[in-house]
Amino acid sequence: MTITRFAPSPTGRLHIGNIRTALHCWLWARKHGGRFLLRIDDTDAARSTEAFVDAIRTDLDWLGLARDGEERQSARLALYETQFDLLRAAGRVYPCYETPEELDLRRKVLLGRGLPPIYERPAPDTPVPADRAPHWRFRLDHDAAIAWTDLIRGPQHFDPKTMSDPVVRRADGSWLYLLPSVIDDIDMGVTTVVRGEDHVSNTASQLQMFAALGSAPPAFAHEALLVGSEGKLSKRLGSLDCDALRADGIEPLAVVALLARLGTSDPVEPVESVAPLVDGIDFARFGRAPARFDIAELESLNAKMLHQTPYAAVAARLPDGMGEAAWTVIRPNLTRLSDAHDWWRIVTGPLAVAAAPEDADFLSAAARIAAGLDWTADPWRALTTALKEGTGRSGKALFLPLRRALTGLDHGPDMAALLPLIGRSETVQRLSA
Ligand code: GLU
Repeated sequence: MTITRFAPSPTGRLHIGNIRTALHCWLWARKHGGRFLLRIDDTDAARSTEAFVDAIRTDLDWLGLARDGEERQSARLALYETQFDLLRAAGRVYPCYETPEELDLRRKVLLGRGLPPIYERPAPDTPVPADRAPHWRFRLDHDAAIAWTDLIRGPQHFDPKTMSDPVVRRADGSWLYLLPSVIDDIDMGVTTVVRGEDHVSNTASQLQMFAALGSAPPAFAHEALLVGSEGKLSKRLGSLDCDALRADGIEPLAVVALLARLGTSDPVEPVESVAPLVDGIDFARFGRAPARFDIAELESLNAKMLHQTPYAAVAARLPDGMGEAAWTVIRPNLTRLSDAHDWWRIVTGPLAVAAAPEDADFLSAAARIAAGLDWTADPWRALTTALKEGTGRSGKALFLPLRRALTGLDHGPDMAALLPLIGRSETVQRLSA
């Protein structure tokens, strides 16, 4: 069974890049009838907060990304300890005593000599400082070539001799991300790891950790990063947080429709449900170039999707009393669903509009005609036809003063459809005012 996991650190709100990864994990699991898990990577106790854990759940709920399970790394420390002991007994993790300053100096010396700054393992007879607790590195097997076929990037090769043994545990006993993630992926039965391409070199080390722990590795899909007009997206770009999008009135399905396709060879297009996105996800169709996220594209997709949203899908979120006929008239004018409230206020009134003096007589005539019309037929057509004949006005001079008097605006929904919603008495009142 396909099992994916989304593994955020609860050190901030989900931003558009995390959401994209979560979405792809979810789509992949759904497409294959598998399971989508949330793993809270909270081993960094100082930076992780419960509020961010809750916010991650809220954001995923809002996006409709239901989980089939949730784990937290802080609750799994005993498992890490056992696996660490196994690796240590097998000589695959070893203690290191260098201070950060010493490491930094060594790195500079190597770079100064034009050499790659690869960590040099201490000679076996190196004395152990009595006053220092060790941190721990994973011993890469220099003889085992590292290769995998990435679902997005294709064949990948790393030579372990060109890599530093990664630090997996700090001197205070706390964990770095690399090893617990592998232990969890094994324990949780993860079959496909989907994450950003900034993790590619981590994967190279982690593949050897899977092997050292006696497990076959999962498949990997490393996504090209998302870039915005502001450059690389990061947690610092607050304007692109999930809650900001929600507060801004963007529909979650629009976010999902955009992020499912951005950076793939499939077009970004409006959808009425996630079904076509689930069917269509295919990592082979993801490009390797950075995908560009443009908030204007999201807004435009949001609007297009609203314009085709059926009444039943939004009825509960519409203003009281706003029925299907009104929704159908108003929806082509929306960029946000919340705009429906403004339009509904324009329909229901009261509306105070000061008419231009030169239109006063024209509007009085309109009020008189409107009062006598058959409101069940096409009152807008009847009104404008009668006015045209009576006043000789046509085009903009005919339509614009009416639209202004009736809506207070120069643009908006089709007046023929709007007028029956406004109703006779309100129409007459607005025209007479
Ligand atoms: N917590 C890691 C991160 O946010 C997870 C990476 C992974 O998916 O393995 O970068």
